[in-house]
Amino acid sequence: MSGDGSDIVVMKFGGTSVAGAEQIKRAAARIVAAREAGNRVVAVLSARGKTTDQLVEQAHEISDRPVAREMDMLLSTGERISCALAAMAIHDMGHEAISLTGSQAGIVTDSSHTKARIIDVRADRISEALQQDRIVLVAGFQGVSTDSRDVTTLGRGGSDTTAVALAAALRASVCEIYTDVSGVYSADPRIVADAHKLDRVSFEEMLEMSASGAGVLQLRSVEYARNHGVRIHCRSSFEDGPGTLVVSEEETMENPFVTAVTHSDSEARVTLTGLRDEPGVAGRVFGALADANVNVDVIIQNEPVGDDKLADLSFTVDRADLTTAKDTIAALGDVSLEVLTDEQIGKVSIVGAGMRSHPGVAAKVFQVLGEERINIEMISTSPIKISCVIAADRVSDAVNILHKAFDLGEDAIQPEDPTGPGHRPTVAG
Ligand code: ASP
Ligand code: MG
Repeated sequence: MSGDGSDIVVMKFGGTSVAGAEQIKRAAARIVAAREAGNRVVAVLSARGKTTDQLVEQAHEISDRPVAREMDMLLSTGERISCALAAMAIHDMGHEAISLTGSQAGIVTDSSHTKARIIDVRADRISEALQQDRIVLVAGFQGVSTDSRDVTTLGRGGSDTTAVALAAALRASVCEIYTDVSGVYSADPRIVADAHKLDRVSFEEMLEMSASGAGVLQLRSVEYARNHGVRIHCRSSFEDGPGTLVVSEEETMENPFVTAVTHSDSEARVTLTGLRDEPGVAGRVFGALADANVNVDVIIQNEPVGDDKLADLSFTVDRADLTTAKDTIAALGDVSLEVLTDEQIGKVSIVGAGMRSHPGVAAKVFQVLGEERINIEMISTSPIKISCVIAADRVSDAVNILHKAFDLGEDAIQPEDPTGPGHRPTVAG
């Protein structure tokens, strides 16, 4: 047993990987196999199957606006069930295992219920259990606020972040994320038939992909991994073989122009009309939204024309946050003439570290969407991402057409310059 953590692996199993008794036993067998191969193992489990969704539904059967503290108390139970059951299965396989809640595992968070951030990991109890040759099972997605002493949860998909945070604290060699797909794909394989599995993605690309709708990894887990240099291996819990490594940019081979097409159909748009065009207005609006913990994505404000000098401002938010966003703006009083919302919007994005130095990529995206008669309603870019807000019902067309236009298909070879006229795929190097 080495003291530096290099013999520790953190293995995280998602909801589908622990859904039924069979799956739990299979996950337990994987965990035991890693232990028998000489590793010390910490496994982080998600709630089984659709458990979290069902718990959310139960809360809404009782109340329209469930109290956040109690919501966390409720939601945190799902992952505890998975851990206790997996510990039983591991015992039956002849190994010592101990299941811990997030709080027992030392996951300390701030006190923003249902979206808490990990601020410290006090892993001594885990370390002790590992010393005693136990396999440690940690309930994902939850922690405890030392301020309020209350149970908190980390936002949907938060077990990924639990796993990465533990891998960082224990200085584990790798954080393995076991899921129902065999890795990170060039597009959602349920939408694009010839999407291909990516061998490696950089933290930066993965951040953009998670932020723009790729569901494989929670955004915060990628952020945490990048900040702490945790290598993530995303892989299938149902088959062997390598998945996708999420690593630093130096470790990714060559940067293709475009790595992936992502999409989201769970957004909503808010438009404030008749905004006064003067300093401080946007600060008030977005300051209030930030205080209400609403994440704002694409923002556009038009140049005020006409004598009244009034502007229109639109932005997108997660559809789940729309009510909070509307309430927050209403509470600001007379900031705008009217607040309009549109729930039928979607977003398609292309991501690739190689587009940093290639200006033609955005133009090509717009042309391709235009030829397909898909109207672009809003645009936002970063050095390695281009996002277009479009009608929700055109999202899958847009994803398919862009995936094809940038030659991301299974057998495609990345072209040398995908923006060049009549480009042909060529083998690089
Ligand atoms: N069970 C939680 C969810 O569904 C957390 C997770 O699975 O990562 O969002
Ligand atoms: Mg997940």
